[in-house]
Amino acid sequence: MISSINSASREESTPKPRTRIHKKHNCRNCCRSYLHLGNLNKHLKYECGKEAQFQCPFCTYKGKQKSHIKQHIANRHPVMLKQSGYF
Ligand SMILES: [Zn+2]
Ligand SMILES: [Zn+2]
Repeated sequence: MISSINSASREESTPKPRTRIHKKHNCRNCCRSYLHLGNLNKHLKYECGKEAQFQCPFCTYKGKQKSHIKQHIANRHPVMLKQSGYF
């Protein structure tokens, strides 16, 4: 005869909370931090401590990244952007 014993003691296996560590790449020169190392490198290469080296061809605006210029032209000289084919 088999006597089944209902053991009420259930061990609840608590799932370990996944702690996602957000590794941030901090710029050592300023207080900026980036999630992606590539962005930090870009920052170091073009932005941090650098003079703006991209000149808007339509005005005196200077940007530290070409994408900034493009953004600027799109905002300030949208007509030029279409005509010039600068980008
Ligand atoms: Zn920096
Ligand atoms: Zn401009």
